[in-house]
Amino acid sequence: MESPLHRHLNRQIEKYLSQQDIQNSPDLSAFVEVINQTYLNYDKDAELFEHSARLNDKEYSEINKKLKEELQKKELFQEKIIEAIKQLNEDGNELDGQAGLLDLIKILNREIDIKKDFQSKLNLAKEMAEKANDAKSEFLSIMSHEIRTPLNAIIGLVYIMEKENTLESFHENIEVLKHSAQNLFLLINDILDFNKIEAGKIDIEKIPFDFKELVKQIAKSLQVKATENLNRIQLDIDADFEPNLISDPLRLNQIITNLVSNAIKFTKNGIITIQINQMALIDDVSTFKVAVKDTGIGIDKDNFQNIFQKFSQAETKTSRQFGGTGLGLVITKKLLNLLHSEIYFDSQIGVGTTFYFTLSLPVNKRYDAVFTQDLQEDYTEQNLEGMRVLLVEDNLINIKIAQKIMGQWNVIVDLAENGLIGVQKFEKNTYDVVLMDLSMPVMDGYEATTIIREQNKRIPIIALTASASFGYLDRAMQIGINEYIIKPFNPKELNMKLKKYFLK
Ligand code: ADP
Repeated sequence: MESPLHRHLNRQIEKYLSQQDIQNSPDLSAFVEVINQTYLNYDKDAELFEHSARLNDKEYSEINKKLKEELQKKELFQEKIIEAIKQLNEDGNELDGQAGLLDLIKILNREIDIKKDFQSKLNLAKEMAEKANDAKSEFLSIMSHEIRTPLNAIIGLVYIMEKENTLESFHENIEVLKHSAQNLFLLINDILDFNKIEAGKIDIEKIPFDFKELVKQIAKSLQVKATENLNRIQLDIDADFEPNLISDPLRLNQIITNLVSNAIKFTKNGIITIQINQMALIDDVSTFKVAVKDTGIGIDKDNFQNIFQKFSQAETKTSRQFGGTGLGLVITKKLLNLLHSEIYFDSQIGVGTTFYFTLSLPVNKRYDAVFTQDLQEDYTEQNLEGMRVLLVEDNLINIKIAQKIMGQWNVIVDLAENGLIGVQKFEKNTYDVVLMDLSMPVMDGYEATTIIREQNKRIPIIALTASASFGYLDRAMQIGINEYIIKPFNPKELNMKLKKYFLK
């Protein structure tokens, strides 16, 4: 017998057989062995089964525990949802803490509907606000444009009266009138610019120009104003500064002019320095710092935050004392932002102020620099006796003023009330220059210029325009206009431009 006998089998054998019988019969012995093995296997299976049943129990209780935890979490989650919905539920409807999932879904759906409705109302309100803002911009734009025309008349007439009357007392009044009209003109330009920037309607041009030349011109044109306050403007430009750049010279001019004008305004008997430092010149991109320094009154630390706010001046008395609108720095900042730059300043009361910014601009290697702002304040008007000018203009007051002003320089003015008459007169007569208004009835200045250019490529055509919009001017340049003068024009500027084309 190989394995010990199972206790049950042993008992049966003891009861019915003797060990002798089994040992004597090999068949019986084999049979008992098989039965014994079966018993033992059964025991083993039973043991295994019990063991696995015990294991399942353990697993089951673990799963159960986990399920309970999940359930608790779910309940907590549900409570939180109810709590959140209570907060969302602006009608204040009572929610019972035991709300079933279906109820919750209903409530959620209702809340979603309310929020959607609210969102669409918000969108509508936003759309209306945007429309109102557009209307406001449009209104401001039209108004500023319309105001320019009568202002043109005022400025022109003041100029003529100043020349025609020599009486001292009269002269003083005229000076005040002239100053006020000029301020009004600057204000309107500022509003128009600000408005355009706000409406995102300003595009930055990419024009090759000479930055050094631009700064020199600015210093030159503001020198007269600077001398009024006994100030001196000086340039401090790095010797290695690369001036041939590509950007928007008109806007850069506006930025630097704003800063230098402020420096002049807030400084007496001092020095204004325009400083340019070359910081890097890598891969045809020039990075440089422009600083406008003054030795003026300075800005109080308390007002550091305010000065870049629209219509804001450091102190309320500033406007009375120094004039201005508080738009200059806002426009400057926004224009610089359009040029991917930021404006900074340092200031100390009684010591002075420095405004500065950094630009990274592509270097111009291929093109000739265009744009020169060649207006010189100290320019003396020239006698242009014998010069023949065709004035194409429809506004009666503008005509009178232009005729009077040019009459002082002995210019022979021929008049055309619209573009069509202008073209006809041009075909019949000979002129040195055509002065062309751009917006006119019957035929506008663009069309008239195009027709004249088809016949004559050389005749200088100077556009007279009330619109300072660069878009219009671009178009004018494209159709062959040589120069433009923005109304109300500065008589000195007109004289200078006419003289340029007067070949005696
Ligand atoms: P405006 O000059 O038309 O009043 P700005 O926006 O150009 O408006 O300037 C806002 C204010 O910042 C000015 O009113 C002045 O108080 C202050 N400010 C600007 N530049 C200077 C400066 N160089 N020195 C002293 N204060 C200045």
